[in-house]
Amino acid sequence: MKYALVTGGSRGIGRAICISIGELGYHILINYRSNEEEAVKTLEMLQEKGGTGELMRFDVSKREEVESALGRWMEDHKGECIEVLVNNAGIRKDTMMMWMKNEEWSEVMDTNLNGFFYITRRLLQDMLINKYGRIINVVSLSGIKGLPGQVNYSAAKAAVIGATKALAQEVGRKNVTVNAVAPGFIRTDMTKELKENELKTLIPLYRFGEPEEVADVVAFLASKKASYITGEVISINGGLYT
Ligand code: NAP
Repeated sequence: MKYALVTGGSRGIGRAICISIGELGYHILINYRSNEEEAVKTLEMLQEKGGTGELMRFDVSKREEVESALGRWMEDHKGECIEVLVNNAGIRKDTMMMWMKNEEWSEVMDTNLNGFFYITRRLLQDMLINKYGRIINVVSLSGIKGLPGQVNYSAAKAAVIGATKALAQEVGRKNVTVNAVAPGFIRTDMTKELKENELKTLIPLYRFGEPEEVADVVAFLASKKASYITGEVISINGGLYT
């Protein structure tokens, strides 16, 4: 069996990615932090499309939890390898920097940046040994352009973009590719309180995107067809910023 791990797979963009990568024939490890009900819904939606998967609960921001969950999986699946990793789990805690609390900085860093590090480091070794791997990081327009009120989030996503480019150069020889996708405004829980009617006037395609529109690009990057693409950041933002 071929395995793919999608972090933050219980809702939004992560859910759509679980389904799109499931269609490539991977058995999906659906990670989530706390929302079991939604994670089960993702699994059911994946199965309805003919895919297979299982839930894998851990908090990406907690190193011990990541290592014990992935360590357990590896112990139970000796000789098998997770060959696709999508680092999608993310949070934002927006406020102007002068009012930003320590926790608002560190929680955003721990989830969006440190989570990427803990998980990728753990899975990389097997990908290198097997001489095959696909790593896709879900970053953001904020990490490219920087957005006011999101100094913490922009910094974390920009850091993951830098890490994507550096890691791609480290592991390319072993046939492991590392890319990022940078969504603009996508219709999920994360953006549900934003005023789409006002914000869409800034977007050339004049609407927010759908999670599936991100997931299709991620599935392409996860596929064999993307074999000569690495170190790239692909914007999916309706033309909002290029
Ligand atoms: P969402 O609807 O808020 O869903 C977030 C997902 O991440 C949930 O599955 C959640 O799990 C999981 N998660 C959060 N913290 C976690 C942690 N510490 N450990 C494990 N899982 C965790 O978000 P989304 O809009 O789909 O965003 C997905 C990714 O796209 C994020 O990285 C986000 O920064 C990025 N992005 C989104 C947009 C947008 O417009 N929506 C734009 C640019 C970039 P639970 O369900 O268990 O809470």
